[in-house]
Order: sequence, then C-alpha cells, then structure tokens
Amino acid sequence: MRLILLGAPGAGKGTVAKMLTALDGSVQISTGDILRGAVKDGTELGKKADAYMKAGDLVPDDLILGIMAERLQQPDCANGFLLDGFPRTIPQAEALGGMLDKLGIKLDFAVNLDVPREVILDRLTTRRTCSNPACQEIYNVKSKPTKKEGVCDKCGSPVIQRDDETEEAISKRLDTYNEKTAPLADYYRKKGMLLDINATSSDTVVNTIKSKLGIGCCGSCA
Ligand code: AMP
Repeated sequence: MRLILLGAPGAGKGTVAKMLTALDGSVQISTGDILRGAVKDGTELGKKADAYMKAGDLVPDDLILGIMAERLQQPDCANGFLLDGFPRTIPQAEALGGMLDKLGIKLDFAVNLDVPREVILDRLTTRRTCSNPACQEIYNVKSKPTKKEGVCDKCGSPVIQRDDETEEAISKRLDTYNEKTAPLADYYRKKGMLLDINATSSDTVVNTIKSKLGIGCCGSCA
C-alpha cells in the first residue's frame, strides 16, 4: 500500500502506520523520526532542525524535501510505504506529487485522522517514547505503560518524554498544524484522494483502511 497519513500530532498516525506495515511489508516513513535521529546523532541536518522542533515549528521545506527525495528511492519502498508526518504543507504536497510522478509511483489515497483536540492533548502529555532512534516504540503512562518504569519493553533503552511534548510546545504544534497542515485535507479531497476517518481507536482506523484497500481479515478474502 502507498498511503499518506494526515492528522494532528497525537492523532495516532505513528501507531496506525506501525499496524499497517505488519500487513504487507510496506515501510513507515516518519519525517519526525528521521529528524529526531539526526538531532540525536548531531548531523548537519539535526543541527539545522533542532531549534525548530523544540519550538514546535515546522522545519523548512527544503530540508524535508531533500530527505524525502532520497528516502523514497530506497529499495525498501518497493513494497509500499506509509507517509507519517509528510507532507505537512501545500508546497511539500506539490513537491511530493512531482517526486512520485518522476519515480512512476501512484498513491492509493491520503487518510485524514480526525480526533478531538481534548483527546489529542491528553494523549500527548501522557505519551512517552523510547529514546533509541532505531526503536522509538511509543508508550502511554495511562493506556500503555512500560512493564518496568522508564525502560523500553522492546529494547531496554530509557523511555522519555519528548522535548516537544511539553504543554507549551504541544499547543504551538497544534496551532502550526491548523494553520499549515490542515489545508492538506482539502487539497487531497479536491483530487478525489481523501479518506476521512473520525476515530479515536487505532483498530477502527486500520479496519477502515483495510476495507477501502480491499484487504480481508485473513489476507485471502476481500
Ligand atoms: P512529528 O513526530 O511528525 O510530530 O514531528 C516532530 C517535529 O518534526 C515537528 O513538530 C516538526 O518540527 C518536524 N517535522 C516533522 N515532519 C516535518 C515535515 N514534513 N515538515 C516540517 N517539519 C517536520
């Protein structure tokens, strides 16, 4: 499958993407994860992106487009991909269209995850993330705690609250989302490519996407 996942921070894009990759070997491409890895490794990209991310602002389009042009050409994208956190602006969406045309790739559709603001705020302030860039498993102190406090169940690395998940940064990220990213839903709706899902449960979202793609319960029934 080749999908774009749209939705505010905390809408569940990452969780849904991880569930979908298990279905057909598609890869999750999260620009946020790539940037956090670059910040942690202290690369040039990370140094340029760090301050924007901490403030809850978007990283400039040219940096993001450079990352994506490279990423989409990697061999693991041949089985499909789930774009999580990209595109975030209309210019990014237009540039993505150009990249995919050049590569001869057609998207299935864009999914818009619509989750109430109060649910998002609660999720983000209670969210914890594995600090290991290769893992980045997501936990929640209320609904999905680690077995041992502060330690990732999967890889044993410390589990942290992200710098951009303080109340102030979250509020800024939601404002940025409403201003710059929410218009993308209309952009893809006008192209006849949007699947709107009003859902707070990841299972419901995944089942709705599966049925739109014609993927059945066992992989052989539709
Ligand atoms: P995320 O994990 O997707 O919420 O991304 C975390 C942060 O990384 C965002 O608040 C932005 O600062 C930056 N970021 C991620 N993806 C993009 C993008 N497509 N365009 C610009 N900035 C991005």
